[in-house]
Amino acid sequence: MRAQIKTTQLELLQGDITRQDTAAIVNAANSSLLGGGGVDGAIHRAAGPELLAETRQLGGCATGDARITKGYRLRAQYVIHAVGPIYQSDDPNVPQLLASAYRRSLELAREHGIRSIAFPSISTGAYGYPLEEAAPIALGTVCDFISQFAAFDLVRFVLFNESIYSVYADALRKLLHEYKTSATLE
Ligand code: ADP
Repeated sequence: MRAQIKTTQLELLQGDITRQDTAAIVNAANSSLLGGGGVDGAIHRAAGPELLAETRQLGGCATGDARITKGYRLRAQYVIHAVGPIYQSDDPNVPQLLASAYRRSLELAREHGIRSIAFPSISTGAYGYPLEEAAPIALGTVCDFISQFAAFDLVRFVLFNESIYSVYADALRKLLHEYKTSATLE
């Protein structure tokens, strides 16, 4: 599914984040930045050991923040390591921290002149964030940013399977309806 928001193409794709040819891909990292399972493990495996050597130098990253490294053996030139929150239904800060992980990633990319970026669904794996709650936050944060800044040609969400994709597709349809944007759906 694709939507044009101002000058940016917003795209939802089913696939593997490590295979994307966008200038940057985003890692669903943990605050140690020393690798892990899921997206994190897949990115480190595909990028090679030089990536861990660089992230070791960074000294970690707070939840809701992000750090940038090179992409090494990946097709993407950069990896942006975003740290989403561990889900807790009774903590009101959790949705803000998830939004912040997306926003900080976009800010870092913009500062580096990156014009195309691919995100996974942050926090919805090991960190337990329910997809139906996470998808509108992820998409809403990205839509707000790209409505405000003409920094990107392409922002892509890479969803690992059909059921994750369909939750994001529903959330995007709703969001575009609410925003009454000039977006076009394909
Ligand atoms: P977190 O710890 O932030 O929850 P995970 O990596 O455990 O991060 O999961 C985040 C999401 O990424 C989940 O929806 C998971 O299915 C998905 N995922 C796992 N591997 C990949 C991959 N190679 N490409 C894209 N998405 C992936």
